[in-house]
Amino acid sequence: MNPAMEQMMLQLVARRTGMPVEELRAMSRGGAPAMAARLGIEMPPSFESDEDLDVHAPPADLAAEARLDALEAQLSGLVDRLAECELAYAAAVDLVEYVAGTLGACPSCLGCDATCPQCLGRGIPGRHRSADPRTLQRWLNNLSRRLAAPAPLTPAPE
Ligand SMILES: [Zn+2]
Repeated sequence: MNPAMEQMMLQLVARRTGMPVEELRAMSRGGAPAMAARLGIEMPPSFESDEDLDVHAPPADLAAEARLDALEAQLSGLVDRLAECELAYAAAVDLVEYVAGTLGACPSCLGCDATCPQCLGRGIPGRHRSADPRTLQRWLNNLSRRLAAPAPLTPAPE
């Protein structure tokens, strides 16, 4: 397995298991069956050794080689998509943290999660001092102008 693919697989397993990547990497040095056994993962019956995972082993035929090329291209696309998703996730987290900081709310849950380890659900907007009072004032001014507008024809759901 190439190093980039191995890193991606270890990161995926780390997310699923909550185990540190370095611990998983150390575990993987004992081979896939040992790692699977430590993680409590049942290996497929046809799996006999790490050799079964060697994507660089000579293919049995051209069709197999073509399938392997297609799978590698598919995997490469998935790796690219994963990187895009990680960037989008990081941007979303940054935005939520900015809004929470501006509102003076818990950056993890905005006060919406009673099990939040940071605030136990008490971090509602206004709980803390705003990190950006000017922006907060602008938001509040805009909101108060809209709230002062005539009521809509249909009542808002409660
Ligand atoms: Zn919280």
